[in-house]
Amino acid sequence: MTHWNSWAERELAGLRAINRYRETVPFDGHGPEGRVRDQRLVSFASNDYLGLSSHPQVRLAAIAAIERFGAGAMASRLIVGTRSLHDELESLLAEWNQTERALVFSSGYSANLGVLTTFGETDVTLFSDELNHASIIDGCRLAKARTLIYRHLDLQHLQTLLRQTPGRKIVVTESVFSMDGDTAPLPALAELCSEHGALLILDEAHAALGPKLAATRDLEVLHVGTLSKTLGSLGGFVAGSSRLIELLVNRARTFIFTTGLSPADTAAAAAAVRICRSEEGNHLRARLRSLVDMLRPGHPSAIVPIVLGDDAAALGAAARLREVGIHVPAIRPPTVPKGTARLRVALSASHSEAMVESLRAALGRFNFV
Ligand code: PMP
Repeated sequence: MTHWNSWAERELAGLRAINRYRETVPFDGHGPEGRVRDQRLVSFASNDYLGLSSHPQVRLAAIAAIERFGAGAMASRLIVGTRSLHDELESLLAEWNQTERALVFSSGYSANLGVLTTFGETDVTLFSDELNHASIIDGCRLAKARTLIYRHLDLQHLQTLLRQTPGRKIVVTESVFSMDGDTAPLPALAELCSEHGALLILDEAHAALGPKLAATRDLEVLHVGTLSKTLGSLGGFVAGSSRLIELLVNRARTFIFTTGLSPADTAAAAAAVRICRSEEGNHLRARLRSLVDMLRPGHPSAIVPIVLGDDAAALGAAARLREVGIHVPAIRPPTVPKGTARLRVALSASHSEAMVESLRAALGRFNFV
């Protein structure tokens, strides 16, 4: 075997030995029901929080966009890869976020990389919550700025670090944390940022049920979001003041040097934003809220973690649930800290009450809660 192939084989064997080996498994279906290797499963694994990826209006919008504009954007946005669909989606996203302007990226991952590398210049210090998503971690690593990590949701610690640090500052956090489903205290965070003149970068990828940041005087903020979770499509965005977004257009390498979002993804996301802002959106959120309450009353988000500790325990629990037709992923390090492997239940408005009830019963029966 060649050098690189035998090296890769040894690496893979190492991952298998410590239960960290991963592979992609097709889940054929849409919405929560699908087939995996000929077994019918109800999934609690997707981020399709409002079920919009299967919504008839969203699907039709994607089809109509393909009919009108073709499958691909054909070029990067600044060359000839912008359609009126992109402008329309960006206006909708700006209005929805109550900002002057928004800019679409090809994923939430590249939105975070773009925003952190553009604003995280050499003379800047980035303050990042220790449990921030990999795309924020990578954005901080790629930025020229120095990064300081503060303890998870510990605003006292953040305040101490802000006080000790001169110069330009950026605080970056998720509003709902992707693996714990807990939420950042936005009013206090906003206050702290304005007090220290720090730009707040708020990743709202999982904020299907809020919290929403209230407009605060003196606070400069950029909202990062994704089109691939609540909006059921693919892509990411940054929303903020016209000036800041204009700078992203001119500087963010993950925006400039990549092909524009496809017409289908763009139109699907626009249809989904319209639904989110309508009465139907309110109904879907209320439905999601009530399903969360069935599983964990009062929990602030659609992500319900069941922390089991070691990797084998989480893998074993996921396997037992699969035997009874329920797919809940086992999340292991490095996605979560060592010793906190878990089942990550993600609820969606497209689940039925009966589905959530059968999950609840199975979790109880197997003593996972
Ligand atoms: N931010 C957070 C908090 C996320 O959880 C994710 C995706 N899991 C992203 C950004 C990246 O979004 P996307 O999947 O659109 O690349």
